[in-house]
Amino acid sequence: MSTDRSLTRLHAHEMAAGLRAGRFSAGELLAAHLALIEGQDRALNAWVSLDAPGARAAAADADARIAAARAEGAAALAALPALLGIPVGLKDLVVTRGQPSTAGSRILAGFRGPYDAHIAERLAAAGAVIPGKTNMDEFAMGSSTEHSAWGATANPWDLDRVPGGSSGGSAAAVAAYHVPVAIGTDTGGSIRQPAAVTGTVGMKPTYGRVSRYGIIAFASSLDQVGPFARDVRDAALLLGAVAGRDDRDSTSSALPVPDYAAALPEDRDRAAGILRGLRLGLPRQYFVDGMEPEVEARIREAVAALAAAGAEIVEVDLPHTGYGLATYYIIAPAEASANLARHDGIRYGRSVREGDVLGSYLATRGEGFGPEVKRRIMLGTYALSAGYYDAYYLKAQKVRTLIKEDFDRAFTRVDALIAPSTPTVAFPLGARTGDPLAMYLSDICTIPVNAAGLPALSVPCGLADGLPVGLQLIGQAWDEARLFAIGRAWEAIDADAPWRRLEPAALPRLDDPATPSMKGRAQA
Ligand code: GLN
Repeated sequence: MSTDRSLTRLHAHEMAAGLRAGRFSAGELLAAHLALIEGQDRALNAWVSLDAPGARAAAADADARIAAARAEGAAALAALPALLGIPVGLKDLVVTRGQPSTAGSRILAGFRGPYDAHIAERLAAAGAVIPGKTNMDEFAMGSSTEHSAWGATANPWDLDRVPGGSSGGSAAAVAAYHVPVAIGTDTGGSIRQPAAVTGTVGMKPTYGRVSRYGIIAFASSLDQVGPFARDVRDAALLLGAVAGRDDRDSTSSALPVPDYAAALPEDRDRAAGILRGLRLGLPRQYFVDGMEPEVEARIREAVAALAAAGAEIVEVDLPHTGYGLATYYIIAPAEASANLARHDGIRYGRSVREGDVLGSYLATRGEGFGPEVKRRIMLGTYALSAGYYDAYYLKAQKVRTLIKEDFDRAFTRVDALIAPSTPTVAFPLGARTGDPLAMYLSDICTIPVNAAGLPALSVPCGLADGLPVGLQLIGQAWDEARLFAIGRAWEAIDADAPWRRLEPAALPRLDDPATPSMKGRAQA
């Protein structure tokens, strides 16, 4: 079997075309990706568990479906699902039948899914090939993947830096060509921030666009599932494959899901054409204190390029932005403290027996949860306690409404907003683990979007000091299609930028046996 590395450099839509044209098989495609994963993951640690036999069976199924369609003719080939035979990474909080899902936590060590998450069912039906589960901050709490019980993930651009978080494993796997696309979740920025600092595309869809059934919960009123990819079209393909109503998640929307990818023009001029007359709002408050000047420079240059291509740039105010972080760090821990109560050593995963039921409960949670998760549980139970509920939780819910109203007002004047995804490039491993507030500040530009339930797309917009910068496009509820169109337009007008021809700078080090292992690093 060929394990041709060049196959891993293709976009998913190019892989799909190659499979249909018979240029390579799904089995060969998987073998090429597994060879990279097996050779490089010691140094990257993007993967928590692999299921090579399951993936090989799915690839063989895909090849059989393609062969059958080819025998039937061109129409049958064209009707095959877009992700048939395509490797897709799943964040380690997506439950799949018979396979491990730990959500990056020791407390779920040994847990195997009794059923498939809605999105796993949808991906299986589409014929996607799942090599395994990707690393993440424990229960998705963090911005660096250093809170994983299974050791941090490295950033393919600089192995001494974080890949962002909490979906850092998915972001790093996509950036390092271990998979063309991967699933993440975003509660306060966990898709957009890692996408930004790894130079990948990431979208947090509108709250309710994708079912959360079978997604291990963090903060239920904020959590959304979304795609990582190396271009906008692939992100659109993956979202299209998993979005839509599921009766098992009452918050999932019955609104029709447009064919996001089919609507994106291949032709550069046509893609850029959507910018003419489009009104893009630049929120003043997103250019925060402490923003790195080189990051700000890349964002301002992108804004200027979008304006030169015909977009009208309008300065807008989102006056309650500054309260976003404080609001989030009441609401998210409050919901987390309730969601995490189910991890009691009786129902799931790990169980530490010590004396009576209470003793076993305390021992299981004491040993099973890491320090950041315990901090969140304490914050959350405190904010929900009698006497504090009104002062903290209720107040935070009211401020959340004000944040949403800021966006509502802005969208009476503009079609979408443009902002940085993060104020800084990827930071060094260990730089923020000693200071929770510094870690929390990583999400200052992404959190308000979750509070308001809106969709937002992060697209790479160049390098600052050799590290990727992300441009964030924020849309009105259910307007993902427009965000993809603007993202595609940005790719079209920026297509000749020299940075687009670069691969992540540290990839050669991943192949070097002298590079230190990231497996089993201590949990922060
Ligand atoms: N970094 C934020 C947190 O720690 C957001 C994480 C997320 O989106 N899951 O809560």
